[in-house]
Amino acid sequence: MLSSNIARDERGVVRFAGHSVDALAERYGTPLYLMDEERIRANCRMYKNAFLAGFGDDTGVLYAGKAAAFKEIYRIMAQEGIGVDAVSVGELYTALSVGYPAERIYYHGDAKTDEDIRYALDHGVGCFVVDNETDLAALSAQTQARGMRQKVLLRITPGIDPHTYEAVNTGTVDVKFGVPIQTGQAEALVRAALSADGIDVAGLHCHVGSEVFDEDVFERSSDVMVEFMAFLHAKYGFTARELDLGGGYGVRYVDSDPAADIPARIAGVAAHLRARIKETGLPMPRVLMEPGRSIVADAGMTVYTVSTVKHIPGFKNYVIVDGGMADNPRYILYDARYTVLHGQREGGTDTFDLVGRCCESGDVLQPAVELPADVRRGDLVCVCTTGAYNYSMASNYNRLGRPPVVMLSPDGARVVVRRETAEDLCALDL
Ligand SMILES: *Cc1c(COP(=O)(O)O)cnc(C)c1O
Repeated sequence: MLSSNIARDERGVVRFAGHSVDALAERYGTPLYLMDEERIRANCRMYKNAFLAGFGDDTGVLYAGKAAAFKEIYRIMAQEGIGVDAVSVGELYTALSVGYPAERIYYHGDAKTDEDIRYALDHGVGCFVVDNETDLAALSAQTQARGMRQKVLLRITPGIDPHTYEAVNTGTVDVKFGVPIQTGQAEALVRAALSADGIDVAGLHCHVGSEVFDEDVFERSSDVMVEFMAFLHAKYGFTARELDLGGGYGVRYVDSDPAADIPARIAGVAAHLRARIKETGLPMPRVLMEPGRSIVADAGMTVYTVSTVKHIPGFKNYVIVDGGMADNPRYILYDARYTVLHGQREGGTDTFDLVGRCCESGDVLQPAVELPADVRRGDLVCVCTTGAYNYSMASNYNRLGRPPVVMLSPDGARVVVRRETAEDLCALDL
């Protein structure tokens, strides 16, 4: 199986995190997002241990909440001692509402509104990641008015191509995030920040992209950032205390994807970074990373019920399920690949496009999947590795309620986000 938390029980039914999906579907209905609590915690500990080994400090791991943000995730992150990266008032509110410590939150965004900034300052967010000079001026105006200094990191674009999908590349010079070194804009932002009132520049941030598999992407971005740090030290006497390398380690969605050995990769980045910093004579900064996908993706599975099977002789076969692009838009956004399993049996396969119930021909969850030829209405279909960017990207298109999130543990199953009802969908309508 794709991941060690997926198996089949003695009846051939898919088991996820030790729970058979037919019983879960019966109890909670479908579509259904399942999450494996032990896997989330194991991924957190894997990162923390790798940081402790590589950097001698495990406080630099920040969970990128955008991958999956709901109260229970932040409770788990608080318990595991993982920092948080947030990008909106909604994410901040969710984290703070369960007592997640504000000082451990890094607040991102290329377009923070005055309201966003006010909210984050009111609640004592630990660090802002400043994206550009306008963002800096907006923050500085408010910190000055409050007579306070806010710790910030400055988001720098290192000019690196991570060889990932266009829509998730954030490292090259021409992306909308951060300011490039190459054009001189990064230096200008640092200069502005060092002289801005109410701003404490703790260091630099970069994030080159998501679904990074190339072996040396973090090494290459470290090289660029360390060189820039040395330049800033020589020219302005500025010493970065923190260096945030962003997120982006990829996960296995299909059997042919490589398995990234993240602890080994972090050990490599740590050794590389130490050597480069040593060459510059600068003190070793506190290093941070912001994994999202690699903490929650393989902790998730989505279960659907088949509504209809359509054969168009000589053309195509469709399996149409009770969810679709509203609960998982990733195939239509990124051509994302997924492993799809029949929930109750294997074998005798035929090829089907797995599609949803939304009113778009493009509502495809995954093309050309192998499923038993006799798949029929009422059967369960499981899409694996949906823990990241599924619930968090879900919409109410066609006025579909979002599926519930059920957290699985050896002790049992519990609803952590309940199913959205038709009344919920009308709750804001006047
Ligand atoms: C999206 C994002 C992350 C997390 O990326 P993953 O690929 O989910 O690990 C981290 N930092 C920033 C700034 C991001 O935009």
